[in-house]
Amino acid sequence: ARKFFVGGNFKMNGTRKDLKAIVDNLNNAQLDPNAEVVIAPPALYLDFVKQNLQKPNVEVAAQNVFNKPNGAFTGEISATQLLDLGVKWVILGHSERRNELGESDEFIASKTKYALDNGISVIWCCGESKDTRQAGETIKFVENQLAALAKEINDWKNVVIAYEPIWAIGTGLVATKEQAQEVHAAIRSWLKQNVSDKVAEETRILYGGSVNAKNCKDLAKEQDIDGFLVGGASLKPEFVDIINANL
Ligand code: 13P
Repeated sequence: ARKFFVGGNFKMNGTRKDLKAIVDNLNNAQLDPNAEVVIAPPALYLDFVKQNLQKPNVEVAAQNVFNKPNGAFTGEISATQLLDLGVKWVILGHSERRNELGESDEFIASKTKYALDNGISVIWCCGESKDTRQAGETIKFVENQLAALAKEINDWKNVVIAYEPIWAIGTGLVATKEQAQEVHAAIRSWLKQNVSDKVAEETRILYGGSVNAKNCKDLAKEQDIDGFLVGGASLKPEFVDIINANL
């Protein structure tokens, strides 16, 4: 059985006041003890959020990490620095970084490997554009993204995959449970064929894209949907309802 996982990707949102309110809301909530929760505030506030969190089963994640130990890399964040703050998770491969910042499959794979080698778990994101879906190439596209990752890494134990169709992110246009389940099953079957039965069986595959308190329960029932990566709704009190989708 795969442990239900809910990530909150705050993206470039929030100041201390907002983040304190979000953390207080989590601290005061009854959270499903069987859910693993990881929240990703902007890097500047990782320490602040960590200091204020009082829930032992809520962890923090960075939204990026670099693939070198230290040195002249202006604006980047190292694995050592994350570990220094007790941050043991990072989100990599988000479509916003792929598209707005031009990150390639190879660069993302190399950062994923570097993070894993340094003891940081990775929420690795994939997902197709609207054009790709309309062309009927969704599964092939996601398989190519997976293949680029599989070329770099051998140990999938600390990887969580997030399937986030780009057309569903921030649009209010959530994938149907059938659309999401189809791609999740394809990802699992790709892992089975190209990595191992064990990795296919044990790897959590999250859905992301306009998840909210209303649509999460149905999606969570699908066989291959093991949780969510939540953007907008993770900044709101309804994030608790998404964490508790299985209750
Ligand atoms: P929304 O939940 O705002 O659609 O964002 C999803 C996402 O990109 C999470 O990483």
